[in-house]
Amino acid sequence: MGGIGSGWHDGNGRPTVEGRLALDANRLYRDGCLEPGWTGTTQWIRDGKPLGTINLRAESFRLVLSYRCGVAEGQLQDIEDSVPIYYLACRFGGCRPYFLCPGVLDSVVCNRRVVKLFGAGCFFRCKHCHGLTHATQQKGEMDRATWRANKIRMRLGGAPGLRWSFPARPTGMWQRTYRELRRRAMAADMAADEAFAERLARYAVYNRRHPPTKVRPSSRRSALRRLS
Ligand SMILES: [Zn+2]
Repeated sequence: MGGIGSGWHDGNGRPTVEGRLALDANRLYRDGCLEPGWTGTTQWIRDGKPLGTINLRAESFRLVLSYRCGVAEGQLQDIEDSVPIYYLACRFGGCRPYFLCPGVLDSVVCNRRVVKLFGAGCFFRCKHCHGLTHATQQKGEMDRATWRANKIRMRLGGAPGLRWSFPARPTGMWQRTYRELRRRAMAADMAADEAFAERLARYAVYNRRHPPTKVRPSSRRSALRRLS
């Protein structure tokens, strides 16, 4: 396939998550695609036309993605990427799967616990790594968590939002203090992400107004193969 999603933009020209190819940990889990040993293909369809296809291979606590990505005019690059899976025990039994984002920013692995990874450039990463925003205005916990994360970014001299790198440690600030603030900002980012996922699951408001891209995990087992 070509690039994995040029994506849509919101009214301010910022890229949004809604137009991206997305991998949903809950959906893959529900369809049995995270069981170790499972292999198959996932395809995104919009208006009856295929947007992209990737091969998936589930390992223990890991999902391996392989696909071809257009890097330049007429040039395709084979990509194989591995995403750790984290299972969080639910209060009333069972568990919920999350991706641990493998994105790297400023030599630091993102490792955020997220429900969805979005395709942009040649890799599937969390919305924070891709600097994506949401087209819909979210309220409640998501806003509060985002506000907490932004407050920390600004306290460290950075800009609010996810478009910029996390600010460096200000001169004179203890390493320990900086690490704690960074941990709290990431926790708030994850809380905002989870609140968004909860909201989608509960109300499905966005999906009704804007039909989502269909994800069709293949039901048959197939050998891992490169796409041509
Ligand atoms: Zn990330």
